[in-house]
Amino acid sequence: MDYIQESDFTMMEEGFTVRDLIDKIINEASQTEERDAFLVGDMEEVVKKHLHFLKTLPRVKPFYAVKCNNVKPLVKILAEMGSGFDCASKAEIELIKEIGVNPERIIYANTCKQISSIKFAANSGVQMMTFDNELELVKVSENHPKAKMVLRIANKDSNSSNDMNAKFGAPLNTCRHLLETAKNLNIEVIGVSFHVGIGCLDPQIYAQSIADAHLVFNMASEFQHKMTLLDIGGGFPGTVEAKISFEEIAAVVNSALDTYFPEGSAVDVIAEPGRYYVLSAFTLAVNIIAKKIVQQDAPESHGERNNPCKSAFYYLNDGIYGTFSRLLFLCGYPKLIFHKEPSPEQPLYMSSLWGPTCDPMDQIAEHLYLPELCIGDWLLYYNVGAYTIVTSSTFNGFHPPHIHFAMSPKAWEDVLLLKRRFEQA
Ligand code: PLP
Repeated sequence: MDYIQESDFTMMEEGFTVRDLIDKIINEASQTEERDAFLVGDMEEVVKKHLHFLKTLPRVKPFYAVKCNNVKPLVKILAEMGSGFDCASKAEIELIKEIGVNPERIIYANTCKQISSIKFAANSGVQMMTFDNELELVKVSENHPKAKMVLRIANKDSNSSNDMNAKFGAPLNTCRHLLETAKNLNIEVIGVSFHVGIGCLDPQIYAQSIADAHLVFNMASEFQHKMTLLDIGGGFPGTVEAKISFEEIAAVVNSALDTYFPEGSAVDVIAEPGRYYVLSAFTLAVNIIAKKIVQQDAPESHGERNNPCKSAFYYLNDGIYGTFSRLLFLCGYPKLIFHKEPSPEQPLYMSSLWGPTCDPMDQIAEHLYLPELCIGDWLLYYNVGAYTIVTSSTFNGFHPPHIHFAMSPKAWEDVLLLKRRFEQA
């Protein structure tokens, strides 16, 4: 199955970098008046991440979390390399099925599903679905009796910046009852899942959750559920700057798997990584479309180069209703990079950055000391691939930035190699 062609990408020959591609696009735009914000999706980075995942977590099959970034060339590359998919909704299942992926490679990983979506999953051949409560089991028994259910358990203390337990997961002391209910409803429960939350600061939470999952596997045998699947969720960091590295988490996971689900235990282990794959693969280029200078009445100076007499307001052509939507919520103000590096002697002014809409909440950054910038200047933001494009809106009529997809010949070779391996397996 060919999901995607080499010709769907801008091929970056040896020595040509993503930054070169950005410069090229900016130079071309600078010849015209169209200076729309744009994104570059570096698919080589996604291929590298996939290879690293397979090497570092050799027993774990990735099921990419589509919710994180659902652009078609990206999911097609992942399909080509043999990844499975974690879909949260009917629309995500439709997307993955439409590109031609076998429904066995999909887990419908949303514990609370609309009845019509459960029926849709049944008619589409998607069998693996998660649950964490009794009423969901009743809905499934009536609308998808052949489903293979995965019990999502709560984590003890996820210690993450975005705690999933507030909304999802069955506490351990409810699991026996849920497994018994499933048995009485004639519903098969094939495994356990968890998600440690986004920005998890303690890798031991993975070990604790794997140990908890093991307890639930034992409980399941009391009710003759034959469990064969452990789903360790997402929460893996997307950049090397993260406080806890992917490798540290992987070491903890591998050792916990060896203890609780050793090789030969007939348990398939999957994960639902989202940001790990895409965060660092996308870069945003935004243009300054308007500027306002305000004289300061009561100047306050902080540092030699800082000029206290005026402050600057810069209006960009992307904002919190676009690429910056969840970014500010998840990571705080992202770090800006000047496309043209200003001279270090230039005075600095108190500056704020705003999105293009008429909403005063549409602010990207404040209290920044920046050299004076001009209308038409470009700013770059790296690491914008996760929970950005998917959460963009067209508020005020501003459309999300166009995405240019880049790939290198070497990475394309790796894709084809992984594809052959997957097809032979
Ligand atoms: N799986 C589930 C059920 C999720 O809710 C999420 C994120 O919300 C993910 C996977 C992906 O998480 P991450 O992007 O942290 O890997």
